[in-house]
Amino acid sequence: MLLNWNELFPDLPERLQAAATAALAEVAPHWQRVEAIALYNQAKVLAAFQEAGVADHHFYPSSGYGLDDPGREKLEEVYATVFRAEAALVRWQIASGTHAIALGLFGVLRPGDELLAAVGAPYDSLQPVIRGGGGSLAEWGVAYREVPTRPDGYPDLPAIQAAIAPRTRAVLIQRSRGYSLRPSLTVEQVGEVVAAVKAVRSDVLCLVDNCYGEFAESREPIEVGADLCMGSLIKNPGAGLAPTGGYVVGRRELVEQAAARLTAPGIAGEVGASLTGNRLLFQGLFLAPHTVAEAICGAHFSAAFFARLGLKVRPAFDEPRTDLIQAVELGSAEALVAFCQAVQRSSPVGAHVLPVPERMAGYSDPVIMAAGTFVQGSSIELSADGPLRPPYAAYFQGGLTRQHVILAAVRAARELHSRGLLGAEAVAPPDREPR
Ligand SMILES: *Cc1c(COP(=O)(O)O)cnc(C)c1O
Repeated sequence: MLLNWNELFPDLPERLQAAATAALAEVAPHWQRVEAIALYNQAKVLAAFQEAGVADHHFYPSSGYGLDDPGREKLEEVYATVFRAEAALVRWQIASGTHAIALGLFGVLRPGDELLAAVGAPYDSLQPVIRGGGGSLAEWGVAYREVPTRPDGYPDLPAIQAAIAPRTRAVLIQRSRGYSLRPSLTVEQVGEVVAAVKAVRSDVLCLVDNCYGEFAESREPIEVGADLCMGSLIKNPGAGLAPTGGYVVGRRELVEQAAARLTAPGIAGEVGASLTGNRLLFQGLFLAPHTVAEAICGAHFSAAFFARLGLKVRPAFDEPRTDLIQAVELGSAEALVAFCQAVQRSSPVGAHVLPVPERMAGYSDPVIMAAGTFVQGSSIELSADGPLRPPYAAYFQGGLTRQHVILAAVRAARELHSRGLLGAEAVAPPDREPR
């Protein structure tokens, strides 16, 4: 190993140097798998650009109604091809992932229908969309139930099937774990949920919250039978370049319904100006397979490194990934705060800012968030956050380059070590020695 950790981090304790060096060796075969997926996805995205005939003039802005905007229409064509969907709605005007998911839900559900969440409680920010005041689905007469996961965190297929009632119109499947410690669903597992639902009633719609999942695998949820799939452009598919936006892809009539919700019935997806042009959305999509692979390679390293330092990590370093999220259980509020503050100090933007835990709408416990990002709140860029509740897990995700993730992880470990928060001596499971 040519790397001299002391040149990067003066006085890095021997224990941390050893763990970092061993982790790098250990993740090599897993990085190869990630790189193979990236190659496949890059070919898929490149082919979609070429088939669609993307050209310079598709980057020009439009104004006003944005009628017949060739750039916007081309971008949606490329997204539809990449996601193997009939149609796509890809817009600046979609403010976040939550907004994109809400468009899908409000788009397809009607008063008297029921929504069923297939893998326990959905992501925190969707709770107000589903129930409570302020214009939730509940206020529009859409009923809601959720099916808890099995004790091991995986979908309980028989329970999902049993829960489908005559008025169940849609099932919501969240691919990524969000702020829970259940495992994220692989695309294949999403497909198993879809198949189980369709076996009971083929007209029940399967909607997938695809946030953090795009390009982590070589297939996407539409390819395993999902009807509609939603996500954020400041996560995976924007690759850090998209300044804002969200997408909905899937069956044409359902995408149309989501578009009618975004604007108004009748005009639906026909309007919506591309104010400054769509170049960054095209370019972000083009880079996304690579950038997602960088973040996932970083996550493999973090898992190997922190496990060697005696911390519990999910997923383990050698598990295949379906999203960007790496949970690192820190065991105390003090350690979680120190971890997130060290990640912030490792950021290219706002490194001098000190994040502190805060109460936030939609969360029951104070949350600490570190995000020194170019695009505000972007989590394809490296970020770390977590609610202050046991087991005090930091959700460590993103990273535009794997090198940035490595630097931040080592710095965070040094911080924990210097404050005596790392606990037990280095643990290297005997079967996990590097070759
Ligand atoms: C990020 C995320 C969302 C919501 O996205 P925002 O852009 O933060 O509104 C929804 N579901 C999951 C699983 C997510 O990771």
